[in-house]
Amino acid sequence: MTRITMKFGGTSVGNAEAISQAVDIVRAAYTGDHQVLVVSSAMSGVTDLLIEGARTAAAGDAGRYQVIAGQLREKHEGAIRALIASDVERISVFDEVDGLIDEFQKLCYGIYVLRDATPKAMAKVSSLGERMCVPIISAVLRQRGVPSTTVCASYLIVTDDQYDNAGVFFDETEQVVRQKLLPVVNRGMVPVVTGFIGATHDGVITTLGRSGSDYSAALLGAYVDSDEVWIWTDVDGVMTADPRMVPDARVIPVLSYGEVGEMAYFGAKVLHAKTVQPLVERNIPIWVKNTFNPTFPGTLITHKEQTAPGTVKAVTAIRDVSLVTVAGRGMIGVPGIAARTFSAVAAQKASVLMISQSSSEQSICFAVPESTSAQVVRAIEAEMANELSRRDIERVWADDNIEIIAVVGAGMLTQSGVAARVFGALGDANINILAIAQGASDYCVSMVVDTASTAEAVRQIHKLVVLNGDNKVHARSA
Ligand code: ASP
Ligand code: MG
Repeated sequence: MTRITMKFGGTSVGNAEAISQAVDIVRAAYTGDHQVLVVSSAMSGVTDLLIEGARTAAAGDAGRYQVIAGQLREKHEGAIRALIASDVERISVFDEVDGLIDEFQKLCYGIYVLRDATPKAMAKVSSLGERMCVPIISAVLRQRGVPSTTVCASYLIVTDDQYDNAGVFFDETEQVVRQKLLPVVNRGMVPVVTGFIGATHDGVITTLGRSGSDYSAALLGAYVDSDEVWIWTDVDGVMTADPRMVPDARVIPVLSYGEVGEMAYFGAKVLHAKTVQPLVERNIPIWVKNTFNPTFPGTLITHKEQTAPGTVKAVTAIRDVSLVTVAGRGMIGVPGIAARTFSAVAAQKASVLMISQSSSEQSICFAVPESTSAQVVRAIEAEMANELSRRDIERVWADDNIEIIAVVGAGMLTQSGVAARVFGALGDANINILAIAQGASDYCVSMVVDTASTAEAVRQIHKLVVLNGDNKVHARSA
């Protein structure tokens, strides 16, 4: 018998049909003699609606959240009516969802009166989607013969009080999960746990940040000693490129933890590095699978490096970034310029996505999120006021019109020729590379190109490098 943690994303529980499919998937594993722990997102679109309700209330709109309450009721009650046959079960799930929608309206009214949506209030409002969804899934499981109960993760995941993007206390959470959740799994029950949610020591609800359910699944999956974690989503697995940009994108059969860590920015479809950390520490394999195509093998993410070094697995574009350059002849041989530059950046809480320094030392350039670029430039100008007035540094500027392209695979640094193939592909298409950084890890080479060339650059690398050679890929089903 193996123990599997299954996480269902928003679209995988987005309507009655999807929930029905998700439940069948769980039941198949359960009757196949597995122990199963389910972690679920809110129904798709629900978290957005909840947040919109609170924001509009804070802005003085007393009507919008009422309309949203109606939409939420319709969405959930539609699924309940379609799926739950027993009157008793149906009425009890209706009641539970209704109570949560009432809570949403009360919270929004409070926010409206105060004209203030604190992070604490926002966390509470946005937690409601997961809490409305799990009783439906659990009831349908019971109806189909799988003993199941719901558990709110606010009783399991202990966090700090950064309410809407909380940090997890790992040891405490592990202890609680072993004490409270593991016995339920061991009894042969299938707990359906709310993703995305935690609580402080005082029991105040927090969230783990948008799309946090994957993280919930990794934490809970790790602490109940799962043999595997399956992430159910609406695509066939992790792709070689974003299919919206590269129609020819394929599914990657196997990725290592290291590779997937570098792909964190790859649209919304890839697991964030922080997300998989609890599983990485325990070598627990992760499957990414498609709820709407459950027999498709999907992508396996494992600790084993299964590829020949130098195999380029994927190419990704990082949008909404700017390239900041600090340039001047007086920087040559002066120690401390880089350190002061990056301290100034850090003080703005801007994260640096890549760095490159020209060997002549006449400039340092680095990429930051575009939303921070103006502020970063001002901070560096302030820090370097002396150097600027002496002309040792001539100019500090930001170019917003750029994107980063990251090429991911194992052995990027150690294998000669990989970078040459990538740059050759861009050269063939006359695409200019503005900066290059061969990452600190062996899994990624990244380069900066201007926004207008990004799509072409990604397609070109995908065609000439990713799909070339003996790279193993799955065609997509649709
Ligand atoms: N429902 C939450 C969100 O939309 C968390 C998740 O789906 O992972 O961000
Ligand atoms: Mg940009």
